[in-house]
Amino acid sequence: MILIVDDKPENLIALKRILHKHHFEVDSALSGEEALKKVLKSNYDLILLDVQMPGLDGFEVAESIAGYNKTKDIPIIFLSAVNVKKQFINKGYASGGRDYIIKPFEPDVLILKIKMFIKLYEQTVALQNMQQVLVEEIEFRKQAERTKDEFITMASHELKTPLTSIKGYMQMVERSFVREAKEDARKYLDRTRQQLEKLNILIDDLLDTSKIASGKLDFRNKVYDFDPIIDNAVDIISQTYPSHSILKTGSADVKIYGDQLRLEQVILNYLSNAIKYSPNSFEILFDVSLLSCDEVMVNITDSGIGIPKDKQAELFTRFYRVDESSNRFQGLGMGLYVCAEIIKRHHGRYGVDSEPGKGSSFYFTLPVYQEQSTNN
Ligand code: ADP
Repeated sequence: MILIVDDKPENLIALKRILHKHHFEVDSALSGEEALKKVLKSNYDLILLDVQMPGLDGFEVAESIAGYNKTKDIPIIFLSAVNVKKQFINKGYASGGRDYIIKPFEPDVLILKIKMFIKLYEQTVALQNMQQVLVEEIEFRKQAERTKDEFITMASHELKTPLTSIKGYMQMVERSFVREAKEDARKYLDRTRQQLEKLNILIDDLLDTSKIASGKLDFRNKVYDFDPIIDNAVDIISQTYPSHSILKTGSADVKIYGDQLRLEQVILNYLSNAIKYSPNSFEILFDVSLLSCDEVMVNITDSGIGIPKDKQAELFTRFYRVDESSNRFQGLGMGLYVCAEIIKRHHGRYGVDSEPGKGSSFYFTLPVYQEQSTNN
């Protein structure tokens, strides 16, 4: 849209007629003050500005327009019948005008100039938009690079910790052999095994996270009885953490269509988190229930450190760790992210109910397999 500014209505009418003939959209202002208000409110592609006006003259209006970020690039063409001397023309260009046309003018020449300046303006705007997109892209990439670096540092640290323990325990095993202390050797081998298991889980999580990112997390889906999957996971955790008891309530006696190992992985992850984040409690509640005949729910409740309400929404996102706990407990913030992906891919739901200092209850649901249905 073109804005024409002139204090004489007859001039506005004449200009409007020429511009309409060439299918331009036109708006008008009868004073410099009105023009400034309009320019700040609406978007114009070009301004035709009379020089001689009472109040703010054309030069002053142009200077003001050049001062606003939003309007500084709008092309301005001055039109004047009175100020035709070189000094005025110079002033016109100095105040930000692109051209200075002396009346009477040739309408066709004016139209050609308008078209050219509008085209240039559109190109400038397109370039600026592109530049903005590029600046944002660069910033995004820099941030991603920083996050990756931080992650590599953290991951190396997390991998190094069990490795250092394994090295230490192996030395103890050697010494126990020298002393022929079989029991001690067994104890240290057992601890080594626990650390190896930690390493294994960390590496599996790393691999799964990268598979999710590349869309390559595969599932071997079959129809399974759900209860044995649960019992198996509970057995594994009970053996790994003999100091903790898992109090199981309910049973489902339903079939599930999905990947047994992946579902076991979710339960193991929920359970090991429940243990990890409850340093002063040794009991975990594990409840299975049927919500309706077509949905089964697993609830794992601990009496641990809990999670502040405002942090709960992000728990299942990649690399997220609650600040308050990240320094005290080892982890990479990948477990729940992988769990969420597995549950989503089984068409289930997941979530948490938690209160700081009291504990957390993590749940997930899965659709029950109906004999005739073909899930997936
Ligand atoms: P990690 O435990 O390796 O940090 P997760 O993805 O398993 O990664 O968990 C993400 C974050 O959620 C954890 O860092 C922790 O802050 C919080 N969290 C998970 N489970 C619990 C829990 N049972 N109690 C308290 N906080 C938990």
